[in-house]
Order: sequence, then structure tokens, then C-alpha cells
Amino acid sequence: MEVYFYGRCHGESELRYVRDCLSSGLETDGLFMGMLKERWSTLYPGTSPLFTTSCTSALEMAVGCLGLTPGDEVILPSFNFPSAANAVLMHGGIPVFGDIDGATQNLSVRDMVNRIGPRTRAVVAVHYAGVSCPMEELLAVAGEAGIALIEDAAQGIGAAYLDSEGDRTLLGTMGDFGAVSFHHTKNITCGEGGVMLARDPEAYRRAAQYRQHGTNRSMYLAGETECYTWNMPGSCTAMGELSAAALASQMEILKTVTARRLALVGGYQERLRGLEERGIARLMAVPGYAVANGHIFYLRFETERQRDFVREELIKAGVECRTHYVPLHMSPQGERLGYRRGDLKESAACYQTLLRLPVHGGMRREQMEYAAEMVLRACAGGI
Ligand SMILES: *Cc1c(COP(=O)(O)O)cnc(C)c1O
Repeated sequence: MEVYFYGRCHGESELRYVRDCLSSGLETDGLFMGMLKERWSTLYPGTSPLFTTSCTSALEMAVGCLGLTPGDEVILPSFNFPSAANAVLMHGGIPVFGDIDGATQNLSVRDMVNRIGPRTRAVVAVHYAGVSCPMEELLAVAGEAGIALIEDAAQGIGAAYLDSEGDRTLLGTMGDFGAVSFHHTKNITCGEGGVMLARDPEAYRRAAQYRQHGTNRSMYLAGETECYTWNMPGSCTAMGELSAAALASQMEILKTVTARRLALVGGYQERLRGLEERGIARLMAVPGYAVANGHIFYLRFETERQRDFVREELIKAGVECRTHYVPLHMSPQGERLGYRRGDLKESAACYQTLLRLPVHGGMRREQMEYAAEMVLRACAGGI
């Protein structure tokens, strides 16, 4: 049996929306963006989304709104995609890498606190695998230190944080800024796309201008001014109409896709729990405060050798599987920033021992069962 790592789910209305969009004038923030925002508001009520070309550009907008001065620092996890670190560098700041918590692979709050200094302006919390960071703790720490909190919820569409009162809040909506991705590897997608959320109305206005070349074009379109003008440094990060049309349709299937993915992850958890008891690998942990979205399922083996052995066995059996990020502090650019490979031990260990198994909206239950069976078989004799 072949099991692919990625597979996309199509919305019923997808082709129709895109076809209708192609017959329109393709004006940015037009009819299909309006439709997308309407779909979004039923799932994320009370938020003001700024749809972007990618989550990367959403993070750039967020960092751009911080108004960093040269030498200002932003803390972020080393076990991460380069987007947020690039955004900090592009805006004249210094990315400061923190280590992760080995249970969730999210930024360790204890480690992060020790890195807060007089030049720290913000922290970027990545919700790895769509599993929430401990948000109340993080918000308290950020509030106390007087620094901004940016949520990199790239993988977190539809996932939430469960607070101590038992209330659910969607990832990306709790920090000063939040960013979600619609890249083709994420739960729902329009190929390349993202969304930025800002909690403060003034920050939202700045971000909206950043998105349109630093101009107040959106106010002009709303009839609030007679002409629009260049007010601040900005860029061109608005999502195009064709992507908005495709994404509007994807929003309609979000609940179905999430439920399917969660069922597959649940299946893996059930079948592979024994590996944990035998001390071979730990399964992805979902803490009680996290409402997950089935974005990723991973195992963390005891050693790199074990991980690589299982990975090769799976590939031989036709099951695509993946490791994940080279920690940023161990990358050539990270070394140029002054880090050494031996820094941040948990991030390095995670890079060496983590293995992601296939999970996607187009995957059948038998495929998950087969993949799990192949993992168990590879581990059968003890590895
Ligand atoms: C996917 C991802 C990104 C980048 O998203 P794009 O939409 O491709 O720019 C950034 N951060 C994390 C944690 C991601 O998983």
C-alpha cells in the first residue's frame, strides 16, 4: 500500500468560485474577499482578518507593526520555520532563539523567561503541530515584561486553547498579533496564503496599511477619504482574489477536514501507545489546555539511530514520513548570528529524533492502520 504524506481535500464549490472569479475584474479585496471574510467570521467571530499572500507575510506585518529599532530583540523558538526570524531581521531586530519543551516541542516558558532582557520587545509563540502553547502563562509573562506576544499559528487553523475557566479561544486570537497559514501543506489551503489578526484596533489599522504599500487605500475604498497616500513603510502582502475564491470554498470544509484528521491522529495514538510503554518512542502529547486540529502526528524516538531505522523501514513499505526543522540556531544563518550547534539541547534532540507520520484530509482509515502497523513491525524486535 502507498501512503502519501500530503493530500488535499477539495471543496464542493471550489471550481465554481474560481471560475466565477476568473470572469470578474480580479480587483484585490473584491467580491471573493468579501465572501471569504463572511465564511471566516462564522468560524472566527469577532475577529478582523487581514488575508495575506502567506503566513510569512502576515508575520512580517506583525513584526513591522512593532516599530523595532536596531538592536531590539525578539525571542522565538529555534525549532521553527525561518519565517518569523526573517521578519525580525528584515525589520532591523535581532532574533533570540529559545529552547523548546520536549513534551510539546513548543517554546519552553521557563527558558524564554531567562532570555528576556532590556532590549526584548516581543516573543513569538509557535503552536507546533497545531497544539497550543500554555497561553495564560505566556500572556502573564509577556504582560509582566511589557513585551508583545505574536502567535505563529501557521499550523493552528481551527485549533484552540482551553483556559482555566474551561473556555475555548482560537489560536491566533489571543496575542497582540496572530498569523495562520494556508500553504499547501496546511489543513486547508489555497496554495499560498495566510491571515493576520491584530487585537488592538490601532495595530490593525497599521497592519492594514502595511498590507497595501503603507497606504490608507482601504479607507479610500470605504469612502472615508478622497484619495489615498503613503503613510508608513509597507509592502504588498494582500491575498489576491483568485486565492480568496479558492479559500472561501476551503473554509466551508474546515470542520470536516479537521474531524477527519483528528480521527486519524486518534487512530495512531491508540495503536502506537505501546511504544511509549516499551520506552521506544514518545507519542505527540496534547496537554489538557490544547484543543488540537490534527495537523501533525509525530513520534519522538529515544535516539536518532532508532528514528532513522524506522524511517527507512516505512519508506521501504511505501509509507511517506518526514523529520522536521533543522533548528534555526544550527543553520548556517543561525551560526552567523553567533549560535553554536551545542546550544539549545532540546531543539537539537528534537531535530534528531522526531518523525512525522502521514495525516491528511484525503487519507483513508486503512492507510493509517497500515502505516501504524509498519511502525510497530519496524519496532517489533526492539530497536
Ligand atoms: C508553514 C509555516 C510557516 C510559513 O507559512 P507560509 O504560509 O508558507 O508562509 C511559518 N511558520 C510555521 C510554524 C509554519 O508551519
